[in-house]
This record gives sequence, C-alpha cells and structure tokens, in this order.
Amino acid sequence: MTHADMIGDDLRDDLERDAAPSPVVAVVGRPNVGKSTLVNRILGRREAVVEDVPGVTRDRVAYDAEWRGRRFTVVDTGGWLPDAVGLAAAIAEQARLAVELAEVVLFVVDATVGATDVDEAVVEILRRSGKPIVLAANKVDDIGAESDATALWSLGIGEPMAVSALHGRASGDLLDAVLSALPEPAPPETFGEAGGPRRVALIGRPNVGKSSLLNKLAGEQRAVVDDVAGTTRDPVDELIDLGGKTWRFVDTAGIRRRHRENQGADFYATLRTQSALDRSEVAVVLVDASESLAEQDLRIVSTVIESGRALVLAFNKWDLLDEERRFYLDREIDRQLHNARWAPRVNISARTGRHVEKLVPAIETALENWGSRVPTARLNTFFSELVSAHPHPVRGGKQPRVLFATQAGVRPPKFVLFTSGFLEPGYRRFIERRLREEFGFEGTPIEVSMKIRE
Ligand code: GDP
Ligand code: GDP
Repeated sequence: MTHADMIGDDLRDDLERDAAPSPVVAVVGRPNVGKSTLVNRILGRREAVVEDVPGVTRDRVAYDAEWRGRRFTVVDTGGWLPDAVGLAAAIAEQARLAVELAEVVLFVVDATVGATDVDEAVVEILRRSGKPIVLAANKVDDIGAESDATALWSLGIGEPMAVSALHGRASGDLLDAVLSALPEPAPPETFGEAGGPRRVALIGRPNVGKSSLLNKLAGEQRAVVDDVAGTTRDPVDELIDLGGKTWRFVDTAGIRRRHRENQGADFYATLRTQSALDRSEVAVVLVDASESLAEQDLRIVSTVIESGRALVLAFNKWDLLDEERRFYLDREIDRQLHNARWAPRVNISARTGRHVEKLVPAIETALENWGSRVPTARLNTFFSELVSAHPHPVRGGKQPRVLFATQAGVRPPKFVLFTSGFLEPGYRRFIERRLREEFGFEGTPIEVSMKIRE
C-alpha cells in the first residue's frame, strides 16, 4: 500500500476543525526500558499495528493520544537516532530535545535494573529544565516487584509510578499522573461569546463599495450591537442573517459613518481596518475590480495575512467590467496578489447584487480551514516523505533535516518544525507550498516556524 493510499481521498474529512492545540508529552529513557511498549500501550491497538510496518517506525515518532477526554501528543524520543556518539551522549541529547519540545516529560526507568548513571544524568537535565516530570518505573509486572519501583525515589524527582507496559498493569494510574502534570487546557479562543455568531470584518480602501455591500447584505435587517459599553469609540457591530446563519459584521459604524467624514482620511481608514481585524475572525477584503489594484489594496491584504485572520477576496463593481478589463484583472491578480493565492475569490456587484450570495460559502470555507488541525501522525508521515523525496540542499557540507513537526496552534494553523539546522527561506516556502497542496488551507494563512537543533 502506498502512502497515497493510506492518506486517501477522505483526508480532508479527517482533519479536525477548530480543535485546540494539544500539549506534547515526550517519552525519554535508555534503550530497552520499554518506551515503545509503553507508547503503544498509551495509544492502544490501532497505532501499534502501524508500528509494525517496516521502515515506518523510525520516522513516526509523534502520535495523537487521548485519555479521559483530554488529547495530547506523545513523542517517542527513542525513535530518533541522534548524531551524538555514545549511549550517554545520545540519551542526553534526547532529554534536551524532549524538554525543549514537550510540556511534560515521561521519564521511563527499568525498575528491574534500577537507576543507572545514565538515568542520573538524564534526571539532571530534566530537573534543570523545570518542566514537569512523570517518572515511570517500568517492568513492575507483579506485586512482588513493587519494591523495585520504590527504590527509584532515590532519583529525587518524586513518586515512581510502578507500571508494566507489557501487561498494562497500572498504566491508567500513570496516565492520570501525566494528565495532572499537563498545563490547564487553554479556553478555546472564542473572540467574544462562546458559540456566538462568527465575526466578519468588511474592509477595503475608500470607495470600493463597503457601505453599498453592507446595505445589500443587511437589506431590511438592522440588528445593531454595541458591546463596547462605556467607551467613546464606536465599533458598533451589526448582526446579519445570511445563508441561514447569523453573522456578526464588526465595526460597521465605521463603514456607515465614513460618509460624514473626509473621503481622503487615509489615516482613519487604516486605524479602522486594524481595529476591525483585531475584533474579527475572517476578513472580506473588498477591491474595486473596475480599477487597477492599488498599493493600498495590497497593503490591506498583507495586513490581514499578518494579523493571522482568514481571508476572502471580493472583487466588486463587476457590472462595470468589459472583456478587456477582465483579462487584465486576472493578470494583475496573479502578479500582484501572489501572497494571497490561497484566498477564495468572489466576483460581485454590490449594486446589482450579482453573486453576493457566494460570499457566504467562501467565508465558511475560510473559517473552517482557519480552525483546522492536522493529526500529528499524518503530519509526520507527510514530512518524512517530503524530506526523503526532496531533501534540503547541502550547504557547507551540512544538510539540515526536519526531525519532527507538530501543529502548535489553530486560528490560523501554526506549524513548528524541529530541524537539525537552519532551513533556507526557499525550502521553507517549498514546505509551505507542499503543506497547502496536501492539506488545503484555502482561505487561511498558515505559519511555519523552526526550532533548530545544532
Ligand atoms: P525501548 O527501547 O525503551 O523502546 O524498549 P521496548 O519497548 O522496545 O522494550 C524493550 C524490551 O522490554 C522488550 O522486549 C519488551 O517486551 C520488554 N518490556 C517492555 N515493557 C515491559 C514490562 O512492563 N515488563 C516486562 N517484563 N518486559 C517489558
Ligand atoms: P465605501 O467607501 O467602500 O463604503 O464605498 P461605497 O459603498 O460608498 O461606494 C462608493 C461608490 O461606488 C458609490 O458611488 C457606490 O454607488 C459605488 N458602487 C458600490 N458598489 C458598486 C458596484 O457594485 N457597482 C457599481 N457600478 N458601483 C458601485
């Protein structure tokens, strides 16, 4: 079975939407203490089967796990072959890596052997990091072996949790200890009331048709909300029903009020754009399609991308376009808006109402991808294939590699690559492009950052 078969057509359905990022639990310990067995125990049968596929094991070091409804990512640092020479150095390297990337370190010791010098050295590194450590005293297969576990109090990192990874003995207690060491789950970002209407910012330079579009969308409806009580500013929102849902259009007062203001008030427009973006989840950037793209249009699009909001591009005044303008517009867009190629485009006329209804599905797609999370195992399979098919060019005798990747956040999707050296900007752009090809992300910026292991 090829990798492509495993991913399948239904990948997009499998991507989780709006999931909070899951904390990382790194498993550290000497070879043969039972790390892999323990990881399989934590994950259950399904993942363990995948482990048996030859050649897959080594690269697939990170997995999604769940215990009592709490999700986390398990990283088996034993899956690495660090460049360090010698066992002690290799384990130390593993431990350093673990504390760098993990929220919690699960340190596994073979209780039947007891604490070795290498274990002591690892404890030093772990302790200095200040990260919470859970100590697993493994291979305590029966009551008679409990005293082996007790002896590990001597490591000075708290209670040894006696477990048998092989037989599953007390692994629930161990997972409970891991859970209580995890950081409090961050409350999901709600941008206002939980489960309330999604927040849309309608932005664009003066005269592109924001106010006309707002009137068209709102029609007779004028549910006005002002939730900034006690301030003199006026970011008044409007609730507008579209496509069977209620949407919150933020800072509409600014759009409507502008008519009383100086048309050339660029400064005001920029401020308003920023404040609308701060309060929104998705931006609809309106562009006047009948004119050439202006510097200011491009700046607004860049501001949206930098703010990490989802983005839909709406080309307005379509009723004014002739064949020739359409032709040039396409070329202009390709040339000038290449940093937003991934944004859905809708060609509309606020005046005639043409295709205005297409805005809603575009906004929904953008928001959905904005909150999407790629399962860690998928991400790492993707990276191990990418790296072997397209390795980073060798520079000065060195060839940086992507060791492991995790999605550290959503809204927008943020990826962190743990690499063995600095990745060139060109290679990072290549990675971003491939991520988009593989996982979609239409309508959302994505962030790719590196953590470098020299
Ligand atoms: P790793 O190198 O730390 O990943 O260790 P493995 O998970 O590959 O385990 C090494 C050996 O220890 C294997 O033969 C396992 O079957 C065995 N093992 C793992 N956990 C236990 C346990 O709880 N009890 C016993 N008796 N053996 C275990
Ligand atoms: P805003 O400054 O972005 O709020 O833009 P307005 O909504 O005030 O529109 C500026 C001008 O463009 C007004 O004269 C509108 O009537 C006109 N306009 C807006 N949308 C359209 C459209 O789709 N087609 C045409 N032909 N004119 C439009």
